[in-house]
Amino acid sequence: MAANEFKTIRISKSIIFKSIVLLILSMSLIVIAGTAFFTQRQLSLIFEWSHNNNSSLLQQASMSAHSEMQRFGNTLELLAKTSAIQSMIHDTAASYLKSYNISSLFISGEMVSLFDREKKMICDNSMLTSAQVTYPIDFSRITPHRPLISPWYRDENNTPTRAFGTAVTDLAAGDGSLVGNFSSKRLWKIFSEHHIGQNGFLVAINANGEIIYHPELKKWLNGTHKISELGISNIDPKTYEIVTATFITLNDGNTYLTNYVYDPNYDLGLFSFQPQAEINKLVTAVITSSIIILVASIIALLFTAIWLFFILGRPMNKLISHIKQINNGDLDIDEINVGRRDDEIGQLSKAFNTMHATIKRQICELNAHRNMLEQEVKERTRELEIANAKLDIISRTDELTGLPNRRDMNRTINNEIGRSERSKKPFCFIFIDIDHFKHINDTYGHNCGDKVLQEVAHTIRGLLRRYDVLARYGGEEFLTLLPETDLDGAAVVAERFRKQVENMEFMYADYKIKVTITLGVTRFDPKLGASRSIQTADKALYEGKDSGRNKVIIWDPSRTTEEDYRAAAIELAEEQKANKRTKKGFNP
Ligand code: GH3
Ligand code: MG
Ligand code: MG
Repeated sequence: MAANEFKTIRISKSIIFKSIVLLILSMSLIVIAGTAFFTQRQLSLIFEWSHNNNSSLLQQASMSAHSEMQRFGNTLELLAKTSAIQSMIHDTAASYLKSYNISSLFISGEMVSLFDREKKMICDNSMLTSAQVTYPIDFSRITPHRPLISPWYRDENNTPTRAFGTAVTDLAAGDGSLVGNFSSKRLWKIFSEHHIGQNGFLVAINANGEIIYHPELKKWLNGTHKISELGISNIDPKTYEIVTATFITLNDGNTYLTNYVYDPNYDLGLFSFQPQAEINKLVTAVITSSIIILVASIIALLFTAIWLFFILGRPMNKLISHIKQINNGDLDIDEINVGRRDDEIGQLSKAFNTMHATIKRQICELNAHRNMLEQEVKERTRELEIANAKLDIISRTDELTGLPNRRDMNRTINNEIGRSERSKKPFCFIFIDIDHFKHINDTYGHNCGDKVLQEVAHTIRGLLRRYDVLARYGGEEFLTLLPETDLDGAAVVAERFRKQVENMEFMYADYKIKVTITLGVTRFDPKLGASRSIQTADKALYEGKDSGRNKVIIWDPSRTTEEDYRAAAIELAEEQKANKRTKKGFNP
């Protein structure tokens, strides 16, 4: 795996980060949606609840008002049935009506008057004899069955009032009527005792929309005022209905949760007004608690996210950074430490640490093995080098004499040709052949011949200068190369060889062995080339053989003919061609 595959994980690529973000987003969405739904639901519940609450209060107030008026009617009816009233006698009836028992029934100062058949008042309950009340009631419609109730009207104090009339049946004196005025003050008490919320209030109207009751009595009951003046217009009080929670802004600029109920029997419409601000307080309380829940949930989510990051993100990043380091070859890192965790991360870290240890151990083993192999290869290579060096020496050396062999000599000659060309200095060959060597072999045996070869080689080598080279060139033939030497110098050296070998003697078994050599000396002629130059030395040597052996013969360069040069030129040209192909030098 390439090291660059492990890049630091960008946060946008992190699956943990994405999961956490997704978790927060989705949970926030759920929490927000849930809270919004819950809040909405709570709000409609508050409205509904307030509406229902006010509605039932209104019903109660209406019922109470209803009962109050009913009771007034009943009282009047019962009174009409008493014998004192039925007597239709002024004194009897008057004293009865003015009696304490009866006056206590009309606590709001209502007037009760008894009329005869001619609608002439017989008496009333007033203590003042001058008081004469007129009742706006249709006497002709008064029946004994049920009290007749007049429409709402204003009494002399501008108080909304109604007249109740009931028939008084007196068989002797004939029918009369008992009429009483019902003051709305009786209802005000009831209405003021019904509290709509904390600051809400009730307003009573009649079928014409005239205000019968308003808590601000001085303002709204000092004359005839209509509900439209409050801000509710274009309604028919008899049919007007409010079914669901409804907010109405009145002329005072405030908005109220408004309810309405109408009692057709007693022509009494009742409005309840509860300021929206009061409801809003409840709403604010709900919204505040919702926001607290929302914020708490989001904080809890954030903590969960942070916890998740610490529990998942950090160990994961640690793991990745460890793997990166291991991948970069840094095995000497510490173990991953995620504390005492037995969960997935704990298991993963444990597995990773085990793997890390195994890799480390195996790499150690591999390194040790590799070092061992390297050492072995080194040793083998060294052995091979030694063997090669030995082989090289062997391949270049004549085994018997220890001298360079013919192949090695050819290479030396090639090098010397190059050097001579550069330095413009001549060099010479001395070709040496042991005289009657066959005879030695034949006489003393092959081993003795070998010994002679070794002794001659040894002797001549002992006479060489530092840069001279002696090689075994054939069976009992030697070739000497004398660098930077002219023909005269070479002749001196050759003569020294001849003399030294002539004087040399050694014992083989019981035989004293002496040998001579014949030498052919020539100067390397660049125009002839190495091979043909050596041939001239060979020619000179054979001349020495022919003229009695144990001689040094110098090849005079003037003896080389034009014919020789031409033949050599052709040969050299071919040689050069072949050398170009094989890149080899002189190789006779
Ligand atoms: P000349 O004086 O004319 O050179 O006579 P010669 O006997 O030396 O020459 P010839 O060429 O007739 O004989 C050379 C002999 O050298 C023949 C061969 O058996 C012998 N010879 C060649 N190489 C070796 C060798 O390594 N060891 C031995 N013992 N003899 C060798
Ligand atoms: Mg020979
Ligand atoms: Mg010989």
